[in-house]
Amino acid sequence: MNRFDVIIIGAGPGGIYSALELTRLRPDLKVAVFEMGHPLDRRRCPIDGKKVKNCVKCPTCAIMNGFGGAGAFSDGKYNITNDFGGTLYEYIGRDEAMDLMRYVDRINVENGGGQTALYSTAGSRFKKLCMQNKLTLLEASVRHLGTDINYVVLGNLYDQLKDRVTFFFDTQVDAIEKLGGGYRVRFGGDSADCETCVVSVGRSGSKWMEKVCGELGIGTKSNRVDLGVRVELPAVIFSHITDELYESKIVYRTEKYEDPVRTFCMNPRGIVVNENTNGVVTVNGHSFEDEARKTDNTNFALLVSKHFSEPFRDSNGYGESIVRLSNMLGGGAIVQRFGDLERGRRSTPKRISEGTVKPTLAATPGDLSLVLPKRILDGIIEMIYALDKIAPGTANDDTLLYGVEVKFYNMEVDLDEHLETCHKGLYVIGDGSGVTHSLSHASASGVFVARQIAER
Ligand SMILES: Cc1cc2nc3c(=O)[nH]c(=O)nc-3n(C[C@H](O)[C@H](O)[C@H](O)COP(=O)(O)OP(=O)(O)OC[C@H]3O[C@@H](n4cnc5c(N)ncnc54)[C@H](O)[C@@H]3O)c2cc1C
Repeated sequence: MNRFDVIIIGAGPGGIYSALELTRLRPDLKVAVFEMGHPLDRRRCPIDGKKVKNCVKCPTCAIMNGFGGAGAFSDGKYNITNDFGGTLYEYIGRDEAMDLMRYVDRINVENGGGQTALYSTAGSRFKKLCMQNKLTLLEASVRHLGTDINYVVLGNLYDQLKDRVTFFFDTQVDAIEKLGGGYRVRFGGDSADCETCVVSVGRSGSKWMEKVCGELGIGTKSNRVDLGVRVELPAVIFSHITDELYESKIVYRTEKYEDPVRTFCMNPRGIVVNENTNGVVTVNGHSFEDEARKTDNTNFALLVSKHFSEPFRDSNGYGESIVRLSNMLGGGAIVQRFGDLERGRRSTPKRISEGTVKPTLAATPGDLSLVLPKRILDGIIEMIYALDKIAPGTANDDTLLYGVEVKFYNMEVDLDEHLETCHKGLYVIGDGSGVTHSLSHASASGVFVARQIAER
């Protein structure tokens, strides 16, 4: 019988932590997790850079879908802060949000992350240095698991869950229907019923989430996308900062437009990677704990937030169109030397190969000024010069810029302070709710909702 007390849709950090906390607090409950992707050990992207160079559009993307969600092959940076990564604190309060993130951190540490470092900006001398140069260093502690240890932690969490929870892998939920005293989820011609339903479908499930909200009359709003580039430079240029803080979130307000530009996802001695989101190729970054896999370069994103007002509502569509433009010109991601961008000329394979920074991603040399809107590009250039004051060398000619990096935001689902929709027993958590945008906030939202359900 497909009847459960709780059904969780999505096995990303939100869904995993929800299931974990539920099984700890209420082992008597019958819990099912539906996941459209594969189990962790079967998640393999066919792109090997040799036989398969580009995305072959698998039915489910091994990078974005499956046990571990979008974060499975991520750098595993768990930021413990209310300053970025989501607005969970607006719903549940600042103290509780921090407590939950620390709780998640303890579980990660107990499950394989014990040897990893916890960095903190508290009392850092860089705060003053940033301030003196019109930059703001945001407050955070960050546990850097690294892609390899993150995978180990996920494997251990799965081992704890597999006998206590019924997993339905490779099973995409098509619809949620409201019943008299609960919900029915429909999948591939079959269905399952539950009293309580937790939806945790992440960014990859955002379009589906919008459809569900429309069908169930749940309000939504959507108005933001972040666009920019990934910067790659010799690790020594940023090592005084990354050795102490690992990840620093630095914000700059441009002189020209007063737009905030921020650093995002810093990967000391890491690699730049391609990412396929909704069929378009963007860039991102990784780094490994394993010394043997470290490189001589550091990379980080510089992003500018674009907020739209009514009547335009398709902020993600706008971001996708800009990425498509880069894909049209470059056949994928584009790379350009900062010096070429400043001189108004494209980078060529020769100019890149003659440069001192050896690219860690084989992107097409090109011209980002043909892709990014002027206002965004102006902001990025201003920020590079501002960063050059605290990390001299950032604005060197050979610094590489990869484009396009984009951060899509899910539409925000109307939720109350319990992260519950207008329908009792239907919760929406993690990035799919629009409330969180990070591993730590998504995981914390899962624990929070599990505790609400366990109490009821
Ligand atoms: C390359 C990369 C690197 C990143 N690095 C970091 C980092 O270092 N630090 C950080 O804080 N954040 C990082 N992030 C973001 C982070 O991964 C997300 O914020 C986090 O995974 C969100 O968790 P979630 O559970 O809400 O959603 P997800 O992790 O997206 O999980 C949602 C799951 O739901 C499944 N799903 C979707 N729709 C359905 C459906 N209809 N039926 C069944 N299943 C469905 C999906 O397959 C997916 O597995 C990174 C993201 C990427 C892509």
